[in-house]
Amino acid sequence: MFHVKHFDVIVIGGGHAGTEAAAASARAGAITALVTIKVQSIGVMSCNPAIGGLGKGHLVREIDALDGIMGRAADLSGIQFRLLNRKKGPAVQGPRTQADRSLYQAAVQRLLSETPGLKVIEAEVADLALEGGRIAGVILADGQLVKSNAVVLTAGTFLNGVIHIGQESRPGGRMGDKASDLLGARLSEMGLQRGRLKTGTPPRLDGKTIDWSQVDTQPGDSDPMMLSFLSNSPHVRQIECGITHTNERTHDIVRANLSLSSMYSGKIEGVGPRYCPSIEDKVMRFFDKTSHQVFLEPEGLTTDIVYPNGISSSLPVDVQEAYVHSIQGLGHARLLQPAYAIEYDYFNPMGLSDTLELRVLPGLYLAGQINGTTGYEEAAAQGLVAGLNAALSASDRDPAVFHRAESYIGVMVDDLTSHGVTEPYRMFTSRAEYRLYLRADNADQRLTHRGIELGIVSRERANSFCDKMTKAVDLRNSLEATTLSSRCLHEQGIRVSDDGRKRSGLEILGAYGAEVGAMKALLPDYDRADPKIAHQVFVDATYARYLSRQQSEIDQLRSQESVKIDAGLNYGEIAGLSNEMKIKLSERRPGTLAQAARIEGVTPAALALVFAKVRKQKQSKEAV
Ligand code: FAD
Repeated sequence: MFHVKHFDVIVIGGGHAGTEAAAASARAGAITALVTIKVQSIGVMSCNPAIGGLGKGHLVREIDALDGIMGRAADLSGIQFRLLNRKKGPAVQGPRTQADRSLYQAAVQRLLSETPGLKVIEAEVADLALEGGRIAGVILADGQLVKSNAVVLTAGTFLNGVIHIGQESRPGGRMGDKASDLLGARLSEMGLQRGRLKTGTPPRLDGKTIDWSQVDTQPGDSDPMMLSFLSNSPHVRQIECGITHTNERTHDIVRANLSLSSMYSGKIEGVGPRYCPSIEDKVMRFFDKTSHQVFLEPEGLTTDIVYPNGISSSLPVDVQEAYVHSIQGLGHARLLQPAYAIEYDYFNPMGLSDTLELRVLPGLYLAGQINGTTGYEEAAAQGLVAGLNAALSASDRDPAVFHRAESYIGVMVDDLTSHGVTEPYRMFTSRAEYRLYLRADNADQRLTHRGIELGIVSRERANSFCDKMTKAVDLRNSLEATTLSSRCLHEQGIRVSDDGRKRSGLEILGAYGAEVGAMKALLPDYDRADPKIAHQVFVDATYARYLSRQQSEIDQLRSQESVKIDAGLNYGEIAGLSNEMKIKLSERRPGTLAQAARIEGVTPAALALVFAKVRKQKQSKEAV
């Protein structure tokens, strides 16, 4: 069946984590196999047909800055682009696109097929092969052994997955796909700390049976922000979405049938995503609200299927029909696929290092929903980290760790590995301490040079990035060199204090904004520049004042980050450390002093003792 039975890296699963992991691994030069149950399902969006959003859009742009595939696939298939939080500052704006489901899938599959060194294998992985306490490959359901010293597992919601609709339940990885029970059982036997989580999806509606005249419409942005730094404009026709609302009748129907909901009747033990509530959750948690918004999102340009965003459920099908029909415009809507909830296994991500490698089983990396996250973007970002590091380890190169001060990717990996999860983890801008710096617009400035150093960025992207940065630096220098007196500024209507100080064009741009018409007269170079470059320079200048303040905090964090703590450090031996600290630190096993500092309740005094111990260990090693 295969020419090669040994790969540098094997990735299990062709979901959002797996595809990004396989692509990153191959870009890093590893001969990579992507083993997935159904090749045709590679890139399937299990739930909403959209990529990006608040926090999530930041992740996509970071993946793209490192030459990942998600941003490009989203742009190739995007049918409505909207920049969320447009009225707020760029730091919390999130680019999002609604995607044509089948075009997205096709784009992911094409981008993978164009990746050299990547082989896709259709098979179920039933077991992991181990040798001498580390991973040695995978065993397929037909018994074949495929060898590798680096394996990335991204089985998503498939491990012991159970689908629930009302009081009915059956095994399944998602609608139409079987669960991966063999592998789930195997991982449990290995003693990994396992938990149960759940998530849900709304029914799909037949767009031909929706009365569109009864609902509001929402167009995309006229000047769309793309997900990929390589794209300039949408590739396919753009469409409008519908907006309607639930009402008191809808809520009455849901309330009257709560005992039939799998989520509410106690049938599902797993914890669900707080930020993506089902209609049952919304009605019960926000009982004073008489209406909730429902976005009617067409699933593509050539299909009538509509995704009603906001009404996921695990009620029986007849109740789903009743509540859907109570909503304006949906009186005669036909359900093409029922809403359902899914419960699945995840493994405690505190068992992973900052490269997403399992501490107890070297060579095995975990990424995606299996680590307790929810969402395509979160999965893809972890996939990139795991796939890249698997490839680096396969070629004996140093690992690539993403820092929380440089990226949302770093924030997520650090949150997961330091704190674990108690509910499905999704990204928000509020999770980042340094969000004025970690913006979607500057993800390339933060990460692309790192990707180039790691050898995972194509020549096309590297050239385009260098060209952009050269132009931006030239413009910045020219604005810096332009000096403006207060009199000249006053003449243009810009009110600055009469202190006799000359100000640079860059300072004025940052303080007074690009929107001020006077900039045209004051800064002709800015006015003549490529609008995309000019906008970037303007945003950078706006944030420059705040960033200098943040830099000292980042420097302090980085110096703590550089203090590595030996995985085998015996905290019990550290004199002066309280028992509580000893237990906490021994359980969490932080990899760096910064990670130790982020453990809830770890005091500065405890950190000083740990630091002294680490220093002593280092000195005695150097003395040997
Ligand atoms: P998946 O996309 O699930 O991919 C897993 C892949 O692994 C599949 O290709 C599968 O075939 C393959 N696989 C599994 N086991 C094996 C094996 N043994 N051998 C070979 N291949 C294997 N996210 C949100 O952000 N919001 C939501 O509202 C939301 N709702 C959801 C509702 C449902 C019903 C489901 C199923 C998911 C929902 N999600 C939601 C989650 C989102 O789909 C996932 O976060 C995302 O797809 C996870 O990506 P992944 O790569 O980790 O896993």
